[in-house]
Amino acid sequence: MSAARPDPPRYTVAVRTLCEFTAKAGDLDLRFTPSPTGQEGVAGHGVVTSRRGPGYEPEVALSGEFEGLRVRGRADGYDPVANRVEEIKTIRGDKTEIPQNHQALHWAQAKIYGWLLCEARNLKKIDVALVYFDILSQRERVLKERCDAATLRAFFEDSCRRFMQWAEREIAHRGNRDAGLQALAFPHATFRDGQRLLAESVYKANASARTLMAQAPTGIGKSIGTVFPALKAMPTQRLDKVFFLSARSTGRAVALQATAQLRRNPDDAPLRVLELMARDKACEHPDLACHGESCPLARGFYDRLPAARDAASRAALLDRNAVREIARAHEVCPYYLAQEMIRWSDLVVADYNYYFDRSAMLYALTALNEWRVSVLVDEAHNLVERGRAMYTATLDHTAFRGVRLSAPGALKRPMDKVYRQWNAWPNPARPTMKRARKSPRLSWKRWRSSAPPSSTT
Ligand code: SF4
Repeated sequence: MSAARPDPPRYTVAVRTLCEFTAKAGDLDLRFTPSPTGQEGVAGHGVVTSRRGPGYEPEVALSGEFEGLRVRGRADGYDPVANRVEEIKTIRGDKTEIPQNHQALHWAQAKIYGWLLCEARNLKKIDVALVYFDILSQRERVLKERCDAATLRAFFEDSCRRFMQWAEREIAHRGNRDAGLQALAFPHATFRDGQRLLAESVYKANASARTLMAQAPTGIGKSIGTVFPALKAMPTQRLDKVFFLSARSTGRAVALQATAQLRRNPDDAPLRVLELMARDKACEHPDLACHGESCPLARGFYDRLPAARDAASRAALLDRNAVREIARAHEVCPYYLAQEMIRWSDLVVADYNYYFDRSAMLYALTALNEWRVSVLVDEAHNLVERGRAMYTATLDHTAFRGVRLSAPGALKRPMDKVYRQWNAWPNPARPTMKRARKSPRLSWKRWRSSAPPSSTT
């Protein structure tokens, strides 16, 4: 007789998502910024782990289950000699500036990894450490707690229990969504010329996980011709989300109209559609700062978030007006409510930068949660120019000159070199050093005092 196989997990959640759901409380606080970029974070983790002794294990993949919920993630590092699991946080500045509720979140993550390691390696005790690494001073501050496995297990199970009710709703939503999408019909009696070919190609690209570059003339209904097949592929390809990205607000509006056409009847697929707005457009208090001592919508944000999230998850369409209305009703910031709802939406309509720039939130969340996504890029030719802008640093000549004068010795020489090269760069908009010397009408002194225009490198 063979032993009964355990039931497969019914829902999978990343450690970080679980902790953000269960351990975040109090104010939204962006004072602890600028935080390191993703690149600086990776480099910082590398510095910390390179300082550890032989046998140190970086990036330990771990997972655990509780009552049908699978929790997975990567612990930043484990030192088997010291029996210490480390959660590394790269910061910029002093650790004491990190708000207490952020620190509580970090501890929650560290403790969950602590339990997953105890379970995986049959440990009775473990040291759980939070390592704050300041990328400016390259110094570490380590906070450490000795924890026994039973305490960590209780913490893990309590977190899972608190998340489970929400997870049950998500499981039900996913089932209804996928059943509805399977039955979803094209909203028009016929396809326009070329529209069927486009829709079929998009579906096949999703089915084979390939990239498709499609060129289609204006007027064939590109938005619905791409959104419809991508949605149809969701149940068969077990896609978690579809992202529709456009460089222009008109492109995003057309995509939202297309989804409205697809769901004319109340029985149609219960799809959660979210529109992401730029902060300056979504902000209710542009004259205030994003922390509880300044903005009333940041004060107690995480305490009121569960009710706002619950209301938002029941709305069929979360466009800018719907998000704003729900945010007003629950007195939370609409911009950060929309960001929270990315995790719980099926179709997200946003600007390119949410997926492609250096701090792209959609991309980061996709990688963190290991989502299976389909990305539709509207008018992709715009991506070249937008990509250049996203990945190009801009130096202002006047500001650079000012910083150079006050730079410490070690930086001054290389900065002087850059400055000299910059000035030697032929620029038709301003006289070069050579041309200035030759020009009888422009003296050397006048050339030096003329501030050249900003340049982009
Ligand atoms: S309303 Fe504006 S200032 Fe207040 S938290 Fe939101 S984005 Fe920040």
